[in-house]
Amino acid sequence: MKIVDILTKKVNFERKKVFKIAFDTSSDCQCLYVKILTDEGIYGLGESTPFPLVTSETIDGAIAAIKFMKPSLVGADPTDIAKIHEIMDKTILNNTAAKAAIDIACYDITGKKAGLPVHKLIGAQSDRVQTDMTVGIDTVENMVADAVEQVNNGFRIIKIKCGIEPEKDIEVLKQIRQAVGSDIDLRIDANQGYDKPTALYVLNEISKYNVTEAEQPLPYWDLEGMAEVSALSPVPVMADESVHTPIQAEIACRKNACKIVNIKLMKCGGIYPALQIADIAKKYGKHCIVGCFYESKLAIAAAAAVVLAKDNIESADLDSFFCFANPEVGVCGGFEVERDVLTLSAKSGFGFDDYEF
Ligand code: MG
Repeated sequence: MKIVDILTKKVNFERKKVFKIAFDTSSDCQCLYVKILTDEGIYGLGESTPFPLVTSETIDGAIAAIKFMKPSLVGADPTDIAKIHEIMDKTILNNTAAKAAIDIACYDITGKKAGLPVHKLIGAQSDRVQTDMTVGIDTVENMVADAVEQVNNGFRIIKIKCGIEPEKDIEVLKQIRQAVGSDIDLRIDANQGYDKPTALYVLNEISKYNVTEAEQPLPYWDLEGMAEVSALSPVPVMADESVHTPIQAEIACRKNACKIVNIKLMKCGGIYPALQIADIAKKYGKHCIVGCFYESKLAIAAAAAVVLAKDNIESADLDSFFCFANPEVGVCGGFEVERDVLTLSAKSGFGFDDYEF
């Protein structure tokens, strides 16, 4: 099978409400869809949703990178995904969100060709993924109300954004724990917002409220600081912005910069490198979660397949599309949602509906 063309299309999504984290505020989302056409009539759909402050890419940059890679990819076999990554990596460095779109579309094609859903193709034993729901930074009152609303919507894992005002962060955790009771799993994400003493102070304080994970307490470049906090913190530390690619996973794990690695398709370049990161983390006895930026359901279906493929991937933070006011303008299919559980399609590939480009 050969790739004969690669099409791109920008799609705009509106958020139900403004979403604030330690270093960014977002009111709408733009995703880039990719359609790979082959000489056998099978096509694959992929998505690139870069986050400029993490992946160093923009939507227009991703379009340019895909256009730049296209002459090298046309004629290649989309089902030889190792080779597809070798071609991309020898054409342009980084640009991981652009590469993720190509990777996802190639897995879609490979699944269709094999007559298998992608999650089965990559080793999944199940088709159900539970996701958390994220509460963005707001007033204490609004964050507590948001957490309660999400628990009432059926979410059993709540991730709370923090990292700007340490004392307020502690108060938010205290009040949310009181409001949701002891059965709900609470996690935090400081998005690089603390320094080392502040991180240790906050993590010690919030450990009273049974917090299960503390994501990226320190700036992404401070692996030594992350290692010190991870060694001393009563709450397990997760690396997100510190780990994009398999090479960075190897370095961070070697330095013991975390106990958990947050894998994102847009940070690493797609499913193929995501599976490599899980294997590297396993070698060092570490767990993973699969997270997301502001992706639509297309990329979330691909990320959910990864969650099921490796036994050291323990949970999912795949909640982005729940926050869209108009998710139906994007690619549909891929999975069904019931409360906080995504059930992946049993159709071959990812089971997406066709989409007009
Ligand atoms: Mg994060």
